[in-house]
Amino acid sequence: HARHIASHSRIYDSSMSQQLLDEQQMLERLKLAINEEKLSLYYQPQFDVRTGKLCGAEALCRWHDEELGNVPPMQFIQLAEERGLIYSLGNWVVREAITQLQDWLTHYDGFAGTLSVNISALQFEDPYMANYLIEKTSDLPKGVFALELTESIMMQNPQHGMKQLQRLQDSGIGIAVDDFGTGYSSLSYLTQFPISVLKIDRTFIQKMYPGNHQHAIVTTIIAMAEALGLDTVAEGVETPEQEATLKALGCFCMQGFLRGKPVPANEFAERWLQPKLS
Ligand code: C2E
Ligand code: CA
Ligand code: CA
Ligand code: CA
Repeated sequence: HARHIASHSRIYDSSMSQQLLDEQQMLERLKLAINEEKLSLYYQPQFDVRTGKLCGAEALCRWHDEELGNVPPMQFIQLAEERGLIYSLGNWVVREAITQLQDWLTHYDGFAGTLSVNISALQFEDPYMANYLIEKTSDLPKGVFALELTESIMMQNPQHGMKQLQRLQDSGIGIAVDDFGTGYSSLSYLTQFPISVLKIDRTFIQKMYPGNHQHAIVTTIIAMAEALGLDTVAEGVETPEQEATLKALGCFCMQGFLRGKPVPANEFAERWLQPKLS
C-alpha cells in the first residue's frame, strides 16, 4: 500500500515539475518572441449594419511559436501578466497597431471608425502608459484610436482610472468598455468615466432569445447606452438572427464571425479597404 502511494505521488510530482518546466519554457520563448518582434496582430472588422460599411476594427495579438505552435492569447497574455512581460508586450501592441493604422489612413480609403487595442489591468496601472499612448498617437486624427478596458480595471482604482482616462480622452483617444455586463461595476461611476463605447459581451449575444434573461440584459444595456449618449458594439455576432435582433434593439455596430474573423493586416486591407489612387 505504501509503495502504491509513493509511486502515485512520484507521478504527481513529476507532472507538477513538468508543468513548471513547460511554463518556464513558454516564458523564455515568449520573452524572445517579444524582443525579436515575432508576435503579430490580427484585425477583426466591425460593420455598421445600417450601411454595411466598416465602422472600426479590433487588434488582437497572436503568437505562433516554432515549437509550441499557436498559443492562445488568453494563455500567453495571462503568463505575460503574471511574469512581468505585459508592459513590453503591451507597448509593442500599441506601437504596431498605431503604425498599421497610420499606413491604412495614408495609403487606403475605407478605414472608417476606430481601431481599438486591448489594455490589461497592470498596463493601465502603469503611470507611464498614458504618456506613452499620448505621445504615440499625437500624429493621428482624433477619434481614430481607442483602448478597450474591462469594467473591473476601472473599478479597481476609480480615482486613478478617472484621471488617466480623462488625459487620454483629452488627447483624442477613445475608451471602450470591454465585455460589458460581465464585470462588477457601479453604474454611477461608469457615467463619470469618459467612456465612448460599451462592448456588449458575447456571452449575452450568443445566449439571447426573445423573452430570456440574456435578451433582457442586452435590451437594457442598449437602452442605457443610448440614454447616456454612448455607442454600443456587439461582440461575437455569429448568426443573422443575432444581428437582426441587435439591429431592432438599436445596436448597429457588429463584430463577430458572421461578418469577419480576425485576419492579418494585409488580408484586412485586401478584403475591406481600397488602395488610394494617386
Ligand atoms: P476580447 O478582448 O474579448 O476579444 C474578443 C475575442 O473574441 C477574440 O478572441 C476574438 O477572436 C473572439 N471572437 C470574435 N468574434 C467572435 C465570434 O463571433 N465568436 C466567437 N466564439 N469568438 C469571437 P482572441 O483573439 O482569442 O482573444 C482572447 C482574449 O485575449 C481577448 O478577448 C483579450 O482579452 C485578450 N487579448 C487578445 N489580444 C490582446 C492584446 O493585445 N492585449 C491584451 N491585454 N489582451 C489581449
Ligand atoms: Ca477586446
Ligand atoms: Ca471582449
Ligand atoms: Ca473577453
